[in-house]
Amino acid sequence: MIRQRLTILGATGSIGLSTLDVVSRHPDRFEVVALTGHQRMAELAEQCRKHRPRYAVTCDAAAADQLAVILGTEARGIEILWGEAALEQVAALAEVDAVMAAIVGAAGLKPTLAAVRAGKRVLLANKEALVMAGRVFMGAVSQSGAQLLPIDSEHNAIFQSLPADYAGNLARSGVRRILLTASGGPFRSIPLDQLQRVTPEQACAHPNWVMGRKISVDSATMMNKGLELIEAHWLFNAPAELIEVVIHPQSVIHSLVAYSDGSVLAQLGNPDMRTPIAHALAYPERIDAGVAPLDLFDVAQLTFERPDTARFPCLELAYRALQAGGSAPAVLNAANEVAVAAFLDRRLPFLRIADVIARVLDRVPAMAVEDLESVLSADRIARETAQTVIAGLTG
Ligand code: NAD
Ligand code: MG
Repeated sequence: MIRQRLTILGATGSIGLSTLDVVSRHPDRFEVVALTGHQRMAELAEQCRKHRPRYAVTCDAAAADQLAVILGTEARGIEILWGEAALEQVAALAEVDAVMAAIVGAAGLKPTLAAVRAGKRVLLANKEALVMAGRVFMGAVSQSGAQLLPIDSEHNAIFQSLPADYAGNLARSGVRRILLTASGGPFRSIPLDQLQRVTPEQACAHPNWVMGRKISVDSATMMNKGLELIEAHWLFNAPAELIEVVIHPQSVIHSLVAYSDGSVLAQLGNPDMRTPIAHALAYPERIDAGVAPLDLFDVAQLTFERPDTARFPCLELAYRALQAGGSAPAVLNAANEVAVAAFLDRRLPFLRIADVIARVLDRVPAMAVEDLESVLSADRIARETAQTVIAGLTG
């Protein structure tokens, strides 16, 4: 079997670790060419020892030195690079077939786009990249012929539930609606007056998934579902009004597609990201992901609720940004990243996250987006505005 050669961007994160777990189960299928990690050099060194990539990429020269020191003589044969340009370089290497885009946040945009422009098979976990730059991103996909496979569990489920030859036209495929499921996060049912005082530790303790800190907070505010709404819009060419968010606390149904004849197709499974990762890695084949089989008798009950918009204003803000179009989703994303970082830093109360984003959306007008430069400029302005708003709210 010819092995698929991989670059894993964000290898030291939650998705990166799950990806390497699946890869390790299939040494006959996959070969790691490049690994990248921003922090946790000991972890990256361990991965280098095990997978022997040709390239390892860190954030700066000091981290690169640290990695080289930890690896010692085992660094032989591994080129250690650092910085943004190196991330783009390993995402676009001629010898690489597929790129796992698992950097968190806006930092992932340029390297993910580099993989797309190089026409790779792109396994997209980094939803923020698509939220920020949807039009530019999808334009690059069609221009280069890159194959985009969603890793986000909901989008992977929708992808699996759409016709195999789905070509971006819901009506032509007889699709009536996309049902995007959400767990509701750790604060789905705590009394509203207690939300005021929740801590980063509580926000990061998700009932069903173990994830990085940023996406954990996004799940707690439900901005994660807002970002996923915009992600689904771009991935499936779906207008906002055809995407409905359904709270499903068990996280067993990962999303559904409703057809005009009344059929509703869904993908189910235990909440374990190795399932969508294995699906995309092996697509269109199926491989063992190390995930326990779903035991429906054990699950026993699947329940559904409408999202509570008073509790989760972030969801509404995302609909608003998608409707405004242009640079508005990039502004939404940037304001959210700054507000979440401030919350994790204990500089901003939980309930203020949505306030910051709403104020930034009010202050930064939506502009037309023609190219990457306009996306990055909207991102910069929104970050500065968010810092000013936070200073005003907390000073
Ligand atoms: P994480 O925080 O665990 O890992 C992030 C990775 O990105 C790490 O390897 C880190 O070193 C790297 N990184 C961070 N900042 C960077 C920077 N400035 N430059 C370069 N690299 C940087 O995050 P995660 O939970 O693995 O999530 C990764 C992406 O996948 C996010 O976009 C998230 O929304 C998406 N996602 C995650 C899950 C999940 O279950 N964890 C599910 C669906 C989607
Ligand atoms: Mg998801």
